[in-house]
Amino acid sequence: MNTLKSRLTLLFGGLAFVATAASTWVVSDLAVDALRKSTGQNLEEIAIQFRDKIDLDLYERYNDFKVVSAFVSPLLESGREAEIAPVIDALQHNFSSYAWVGLVSPAGMVIESNGGLLRGADVSQRPWFKQALKQPYMGDAHDAILLAEKLYNPTSAPLRFLDLAVPLRSEDGTLLGVLGAHLYLDWVANMGRTLMTPMRKRLNAEFIVADQSGAVLIGPPGSVRQALPEALINRMKTVESGYLTTALAFNDTPTETQDYLVGFTRLQGRGEYESFNWWVLVRKPTADAFTTARDLRTSLIMVGLVVAPILLLFVSLVARWTTRPLLKMTAEASHLDPEKPDTLIRLRDDYAEVKTLSSVLRDLIRSLANKTRELNELNAHLEQRVAERTQELEHANLKLEATAHTDSLTGLNNRGHYFKLGETALKKAVRSNSPLAVIMFDADHFKTVNDTYGHAAGDRALVHLAQMALQALRDTDILARVGGEEFAVVLENTTEQSAAEVAERLRASIAATPLILDTEELVLTVSVGVACLKPDRAASLDALLGLADKALYAAKAGGRNRVCCYSALPASANQPTPPG
Ligand code: GH3
Ligand code: MG
Ligand code: MG
Repeated sequence: MNTLKSRLTLLFGGLAFVATAASTWVVSDLAVDALRKSTGQNLEEIAIQFRDKIDLDLYERYNDFKVVSAFVSPLLESGREAEIAPVIDALQHNFSSYAWVGLVSPAGMVIESNGGLLRGADVSQRPWFKQALKQPYMGDAHDAILLAEKLYNPTSAPLRFLDLAVPLRSEDGTLLGVLGAHLYLDWVANMGRTLMTPMRKRLNAEFIVADQSGAVLIGPPGSVRQALPEALINRMKTVESGYLTTALAFNDTPTETQDYLVGFTRLQGRGEYESFNWWVLVRKPTADAFTTARDLRTSLIMVGLVVAPILLLFVSLVARWTTRPLLKMTAEASHLDPEKPDTLIRLRDDYAEVKTLSSVLRDLIRSLANKTRELNELNAHLEQRVAERTQELEHANLKLEATAHTDSLTGLNNRGHYFKLGETALKKAVRSNSPLAVIMFDADHFKTVNDTYGHAAGDRALVHLAQMALQALRDTDILARVGGEEFAVVLENTTEQSAAEVAERLRASIAATPLILDTEELVLTVSVGVACLKPDRAASLDALLGLADKALYAAKAGGRNRVCCYSALPASANQPTPPG
């Protein structure tokens, strides 16, 4: 699949995938961030509202006491203690979270209280009483001590109270007593529940109130008295209020490892009494807080999954559209016929690059075709030249060969060639066991011819003799000029007798055919020697010619213009011929 199309598809498909994945990631990340901020701010605002409510409630209780103390002090001063009980009851009824409201003598004995609870008891050692002797006092949460047994407690957890106490003084400032109260800490929890109910549906959040040491006062089941993580407290201390993400797990729920988005703030106080510095937190699981973002991410992924195949199809179409003209050009180019240089690929204008490419290719093919044509022509021309030259050379060779074999004056075989052809014929005769004859003839008194008529006439006479011999002989006979005016013939498959007949015919025709010269006729004669060799492996042409030469010698000696056969020579004549 290593094609341009697959590469383009891979490239654009990959880009689309990366773009979709990146945008999904970025968008969902932004969404998570935005949600974290808005939800965090929400939680922070709720925490602040809750804090303000607690602050306000506490301040109201404090004001209640200031008002009541202003009302009760004159009664005490004037000894109308009996009128105080209804005031205390009214106070308790006005705010149901008062567990106990009582009037204490300067010595620390309970004089009056709601429902007579603890009447007569000594509270002189209780911190709230001691503090209230000097100034108004707000006491932080603590477990019920004296009242634990006396009050109804619907929960299994110990009762916890907040303390509130103010000194009662006469107009001159004499301490008349202390008005004290215990508030159910549950009042904070109830307040929280009331506040959270409408938001729970929308926000699914929980509130936590912890004292200034970080111990949980009010919170989800199991969290009470647990300590807030140190790290969280340190982070919260840096600002008055805010929000953060943390693993807000408590000791009794070690498996609870999920993260929470937490809005927090701190109780403020009023200046007239010391603030509790409680932490007020509202928490919500992040998994829950970011559901919308997760849903958005899922939606984006789903959209991506739907869009991806469409995009891929589109990319594949574009890749096909891009590569199709290239493939067509390739197909056309592969069908180009080198034998038809005029065929070209089409000029295409699918897009700019293809247009350029097709045009360049056409030019290239055209120029290649021209070059091929020129080369073909050159080739043909060269072949013709080579053929001509070869023919000329062959002619020259033939001529040279003929010259090497031929006697230039008569055109007959020369001596060398005569021996070559003769030897071959001799071997053939020996092999086929057939007779072979040799004739030698020599012009008579030729020196005289030269002397009388000149050398040129002598030459003409030699040519004449050659022609006469050619006429007298068969085509198959091997005729040669072997010396100045000396000729020899090899006659294959010929007996001495037959050869003698041929020789006689030759001699007679020469003698009967004078050479016509300018002014006269020249009668030439030849003396002829004939020899024949019975087939014998030891035979040689040289030896046979020697025998014929002997016969020729005999013919000369016998008076010339005659034929002599070697076999007819007398035994004395069968001696080696003297040289001459
Ligand atoms: P005989 O009858 O004994 O053969 O006498 P002859 O004169 O023919 O013999 P000789 O050997 O004495 O002389 C041969 C002569 O042939 C001598 C030479 O001048 C002549 N001759 C040889 N070759 C040529 C040639 O090519 N041209 C011409 N014109 N004459 C030649
Ligand atoms: Mg001679
Ligand atoms: Mg001679």
